[in-house]
Amino acid sequence: MKEGFTGRLLTAVLFILLILFLPSPSNTQQQKPLCFNHAVIIDGNGGAPLEDGSIVISGDRIEAVGYLDQLKVPSDARMINLKGKTVMPGLADMHVHLCGGWDGMSTDMLGYQRYLNSLLYSGVTTVLDLGNNLEYILQLRQEVGEGRIPGPRIYCAGPLINGADPSWPSISYALSSVHQIPKMVARLKRVGVDVVKAYSGLSNQMVYALASAADREGLRVFVHQSSKELADLGITAYAHMFDEDISEDFMRLMKAKGIRCITTLAVTESGIGRRFVDLSFLDDPLVEHTTPPWFLKDLKSWVSRTINTNSNSHSIYAQREQVLKRAQRNTKKMFDSGIVLAAGTDAPHPGVFLGEGIHRELGLLVEAGLTPLQAITLATKNAAVLIEDEKEWGTLSSGRLANFLVVDGRPDKDIRQTRNIEMVILEGKILNRDKLKFDEKKDPGFRVNK
Ligand SMILES: [Zn+2]
Repeated sequence: MKEGFTGRLLTAVLFILLILFLPSPSNTQQQKPLCFNHAVIIDGNGGAPLEDGSIVISGDRIEAVGYLDQLKVPSDARMINLKGKTVMPGLADMHVHLCGGWDGMSTDMLGYQRYLNSLLYSGVTTVLDLGNNLEYILQLRQEVGEGRIPGPRIYCAGPLINGADPSWPSISYALSSVHQIPKMVARLKRVGVDVVKAYSGLSNQMVYALASAADREGLRVFVHQSSKELADLGITAYAHMFDEDISEDFMRLMKAKGIRCITTLAVTESGIGRRFVDLSFLDDPLVEHTTPPWFLKDLKSWVSRTINTNSNSHSIYAQREQVLKRAQRNTKKMFDSGIVLAAGTDAPHPGVFLGEGIHRELGLLVEAGLTPLQAITLATKNAAVLIEDEKEWGTLSSGRLANFLVVDGRPDKDIRQTRNIEMVILEGKILNRDKLKFDEKKDPGFRVNK
């Protein structure tokens, strides 16, 4: 009896030891290095692409980029021939709200996987969330960051910081006094937001107090409103492009203070209604494969109710188009003056989709007068510069995270070709894009006023 017990104990101990010292599944399944070769490589820096280039990755990092005969390719590397394809950095959308709805009231939080999937499907590997429910976005960022749910890398601001009567109450902090600011900013720092977002209801005095408190905590302030006066108050970035004409003096001030600007031309275009003149963009696979059919149906009926039924709608949008044209002129002027611009969309918004939106933004940047390569730089390298993490991602070079896309064609010649995504590589792993498509069976299906 005693011996039997000892024997069982010994077996149990051996079994436990075996489990402890067996290589874990992740070790045994360690992915071999990958060598993508014979591709056109756009590295995100804005220079001429490398024709017939190669990129070697190991684990989650880029090992090397260059010509195949000049690279040290590990002998066990899997070779992937990409003749006729282009490799470019994963895209970053530096102005989103990861809450799924349109209007701030119908935020769809449980649907997070659907819109994280639509971002990945469209090749967006990084986002900056510029206003959300604090606890929700912190949790989402942590879950994605620790690999428990798939999604692009998330940076976040937490709530919109606004005056006493905020426009988006569910995702805002309302301030009634400057004296509330130091404690509030200290708390935001403690919970780990990446930036602070100031909204339009704040007085200049409040923005100044916010920027000073944020500076003491080592945080940067991004502002919603395109107000020139704010440039003197200690802010780091404007979250939207100016749609009023700006002067050379103002641009000099922005440059001297290192103030950056996020372009968000996509939301301007949708805001003036121009996007809805031709609805064929809803058939783009980047929208169609990732969006619930009811969402598209609702959008079409919203468009026909609010835009197409008005016989003057086209002429109204033509007048309003000047708003977009001014924003595009400012974009080109700021770019030429050397101000750091980063691409963002303000998705979700009617007509601006999480994922497809950044491709539309690229198109609008080219329409503004940037070359396709310059536009791509705004959604790659400059996006990383905006958030001061350019040593980690944004360009294709040795040591950076292996976040990149394989696209069919030449987006450096025709920006629309960024849409022809064939492969998304996120932190060294080739994603299964079929699994990222909208799947009604897996979606929570929340719908306001069903
Ligand atoms: Zn926004």
